[in-house]
Amino acid sequence: MSARLALYDLTRPELIAQVEAWGLSPVHGARLWSSLYYEGRGSFEEMTDLPVRLRTRLMEEATIAPLPVAREQHSSDGFTRKYLLALADGRQIETVLMRYHGRTTACISSQVGCAMGCVFCATGQMGFTRHLSAAEIVGQVMHVDRTLRATATAPTAPALAEPRHDSPHHRHERLRNLVLMGMGEPLHNYDAVLRAVDILRDSNGLALGAKRITLSTVGVVPGIIRLADEGRPIHLAVSLHGATQAERAALVPAARAWPLDALMDACRYYVRKLERRIFVEWTLIDGKNDGPDQAHAVGALLRGLDVQVNLIPLNPTAGYAGVPGRSENAKRFQEILAEYALPSTVRQRRGIDIAAGCGQLAVAESV
Ligand code: SAH
Ligand code: SF4
Repeated sequence: MSARLALYDLTRPELIAQVEAWGLSPVHGARLWSSLYYEGRGSFEEMTDLPVRLRTRLMEEATIAPLPVAREQHSSDGFTRKYLLALADGRQIETVLMRYHGRTTACISSQVGCAMGCVFCATGQMGFTRHLSAAEIVGQVMHVDRTLRATATAPTAPALAEPRHDSPHHRHERLRNLVLMGMGEPLHNYDAVLRAVDILRDSNGLALGAKRITLSTVGVVPGIIRLADEGRPIHLAVSLHGATQAERAALVPAARAWPLDALMDACRYYVRKLERRIFVEWTLIDGKNDGPDQAHAVGALLRGLDVQVNLIPLNPTAGYAGVPGRSENAKRFQEILAEYALPSTVRQRRGIDIAAGCGQLAVAESV
């Protein structure tokens, strides 16, 4: 059988052009797009409003390729769910859904494994297997979206008694926020990741707001420059972890390819060009990078740049013996950053009991 066309790979204009190439009206192409993303349908059988000719063609030549759930885990506090999803070639990835006080966020993967080898990261510890396609990235989000739809509130529920209009989006809790912070380095897979972002942002579909999408990078300098040059409206987070080249490279081997000076130049370029704040991530490891000296070094490095520092207490992984920074050190770290006029937050640790925290996603080699 020849490879089927993965519909989640296509942007809206491409999907409509494909339907036209099959000899059908673009109106039906637009309907198909709505079925996929606005109504969130996961099979052609459900798309009864499409002409039979189009549905037959789709069944013969295309696939929605939903990602089957191999395993689902819920954190004990009920805020976090982790899905192990199966890809067509038998590989697996992890996707996380977080629901805290009305904020619904999906944390999705961009690769199977990761080539960057950060010492404290479970994904880095498993090595690189392959990039994900745009369809596999979109598929994770659509899985989460379908999960939320399945828990839709009954139409009679008082809180939702007056939907703005009778659309699927208004009958269930919507996915609002997206973070590319799962398995993999998104800027190492730039084209597929940004294509997926375009598909997910399309205002006739899932319509995720660009301001609610955050891409986190280990510091792939050419990718940061490209994001700036292309004027991508999404948020950028940069993983720093060390404020000198030597200290950073000891934790983040990718710093050898893209040294700290070049990374800082790229960040300054991005902030200046897009006039947009960058988030800087700093994993706090007890006795290693959570002391006052490091805080001052971070302050001196970032002073004057429009950034917000997110401090992430280390989450445990099998391959790294470090201990999370203590909360009193995190507090002192924040106070010192404030002396340099740098805003900061300490990320809440959630989902640790199901290994769904930052840097904890990994899968056993399955193929
Ligand atoms: N590859 C991207 C995004 C995925 S990781 C990146 O590295 O930025 C998201 C964040 O979690 C990064 O800042 C990463 O450095 C951090 N992280 C990795 N392992 C961690 C761990 N064990 N504990 C806490 N944070 C970790
Ligand atoms: Fe890859 Fe990010 Fe993990 Fe580093 S922290 S190994 S870049 S996923």
